[in-house]
This record gives sequence, C-alpha cells and structure tokens, in this order.
Amino acid sequence: MIYPSVSIESKAYWTGLTNGELLLQECTDCGTIRHYPRPMCDNCYSFGHRWIKASGDALVYAWTECHHAFHPSFAELTPYTLVTATLKEGPRLMAPLAQPPKRDLYLGMKLKIEFNQVSSDLTLPIFKAT
Ligand SMILES: [Zn+2]
Repeated sequence: MIYPSVSIESKAYWTGLTNGELLLQECTDCGTIRHYPRPMCDNCYSFGHRWIKASGDALVYAWTECHHAFHPSFAELTPYTLVTATLKEGPRLMAPLAQPPKRDLYLGMKLKIEFNQVSSDLTLPIFKAT
C-alpha cells in the first residue's frame, strides 16, 4: 500500500484521524473553515489557523460507483461507492462509503464520519449512512 505523503500542513490532520478525530483548519483572521489542509486561507490569504474537531455530520453532495481500481491499493475494495459530502462545518470531504446503505443514496442524505484503521499508523475517514 502506498501511504499518503504527510506535509507540515497536514500532519495534525493525519494524527487526528489516527486518534479518531476529523480535524479541520479554521482561519484565525476571518473564521473560514477549510479542508484539505493547506498553509493559506483561500478567503483572506492569511497564514493563521487553528485546528477544530469536526462534528462528523455530513450531507451527500455527490457520489460515484467505482468499478475500476485506479490504484492497486483499492483493487480489493471494488466495487465501492465514493462520496463527496458537505460537512456540517461547511467544507466538502471525499471518502468511501463504509457499507451499502439500506436504501439508495440521494442528494442531502445524512452521513456520519467513521474511521477506518488501515494500519497502526494510517487511519482514513469513511462515511456511513445514518
Ligand atoms: Zn481567512
């Protein structure tokens, strides 16, 4: 398996996932919450930020069924559903759906973030339909 590259900006994010927390950056100058981790606020261009813990609540924004493994690490998972969801805090996050929901997905469907421990030092977010 190829691991994500951890940068100085994303280290807290990956550590948070390992601890069962989805952490988001909040700009300390304008309050904009952003994801994925990056050094600068795209609203006011400030470098100031603090980490906040996401609630884990999200709504389906879009999804796709993946039948082709675009990377060998995902071959065992196919077919799987990849969801883009709007987090309660505002930013969108793309992650796999943990298991098929009892009914068809629909736009605005409620999801909850869960954590998939891939190895002792890698945990990835996944969505679960509520
Ligand atoms: Zn800002």
